[in-house]
Amino acid sequence: MKKYQVNRGCTHCGTCIFECPVGAISIDSKGAHIDIEKCRGCGICQDNCASEAITEFETEENKTEK
Ligand code: SF4
Ligand code: SF4
Repeated sequence: MKKYQVNRGCTHCGTCIFECPVGAISIDSKGAHIDIEKCRGCGICQDNCASEAITEFETEENKTEK
């Protein structure tokens, strides 16, 4: 399954938190953080991050049918 993570380019702008339809993103002193348990892999956060700080990756779950 496709999931998303935040890299060090995050500027703490907060946009992605409001864009995520499932509330998977929170922000702390290090920047935004995506809870991959909640993330549905929709990519909306990535589309809305002006800093291109959100990248996608494939989880192990992808290999087993779920
Ligand atoms: S939209 Fe991008 S830069 Fe803004 S808080 Fe989210 S990850 Fe960070
Ligand atoms: S990919 Fe979609 S569900 Fe996952 S954190 Fe981004 S906006 Fe939320």
